[in-house]
Amino acid sequence: VKREGRDGVRKFTKCMSVAAREKVRMTKELRTAIENDELVVHYQPQKDLRTGKVCGVEALVRWQHEGRLVMPGEFIPLAEETGLICALGEFVMTKACAQVRAWQAAGVEPFKVGVNMSARQFQDPGMTRKVADILSAADLDPRWLEVEITESMIMCDVADSVRKMSELTALGISLALDDFGTGYSSLSTLKSFPLSRLKIDSSFVKGIPADENDMAIASAILSMAKKLGIQTMAEGVENAEQEHFLRDAGCCQMQGYYLARPLPPSELREFVTNYQEL
Ligand code: C2E
Ligand code: CA
Ligand code: CA
Ligand code: CA
Repeated sequence: VKREGRDGVRKFTKCMSVAAREKVRMTKELRTAIENDELVVHYQPQKDLRTGKVCGVEALVRWQHEGRLVMPGEFIPLAEETGLICALGEFVMTKACAQVRAWQAAGVEPFKVGVNMSARQFQDPGMTRKVADILSAADLDPRWLEVEITESMIMCDVADSVRKMSELTALGISLALDDFGTGYSSLSTLKSFPLSRLKIDSSFVKGIPADENDMAIASAILSMAKKLGIQTMAEGVENAEQEHFLRDAGCCQMQGYYLARPLPPSELREFVTNYQEL
């Protein structure tokens, strides 16, 4: 029994150290990736459900690593744990602003770009300054940038969050609340925040049309947002049925595979150009 126990401990330690070493290696590689431009940004189109036009894109990071495209789920948690998320987030915002500006300069009809911001970035006291610097470096009109934050980031210290968010909106950019419905925000608290848009989490969209509870929740969120004067965007829309239900329930915009997957810049431009010609 004793030996088994010791063996178990040894195995466990060995296992831990492999995982720990792998983590150190990944962290190093990710840091180099940011410096060496191995991170690429894809853009997922968003549609206005009233006009039927493309109204924006969301910037989503990917990592070109050892011959494959690594998805954010595989490295964002590590980046958040190690603090690399701040450099990564600035990189993505810089790329996205420059890209959108370049499309505008090339004559593409202007649209917004949504960029994800993580909690660590939001807490960084120099954050607003950095966003301002990125905007002016890209020579981008701030109205085309929307920063996406999540409920958990702003609900613990409401007063401080309102102050930070107001700093950002004072730059002329807009703010969206991402993954809405998955947290525990009281609807009344939402009124306190300078938010332009709620992004309805895809988990509710998935349940349309089979799950009556999901549909009831989605409808309730949509009508509440309307009363508060906040726009709504549904995420993860995968079929016509979902799009029609959401549109009829008053949803303003949609994003999802039914419209398009996240695309590399050249394909996004092609998509938008062809789509607007239809
Ligand atoms: P998110 O912000 O909720 O982004 C939406 C995710 O849903 C994206 O996954 C997108 O590809 C996926 N998606 C879009 N339409 C559909 C659909 O119709 N069906 C399904 N099943 N999925 C759909 P992705 O690109 O893998 O990104 C995952 C998460 O990684 C993002 O979730 C975001 O939280 C994070 N992330 C991505 N880029 C960045 C970044 O630059 N900074 C930070 N902090 N986080 C990022
Ligand atoms: Ca997002
Ligand atoms: Ca989301
Ligand atoms: Ca999400």
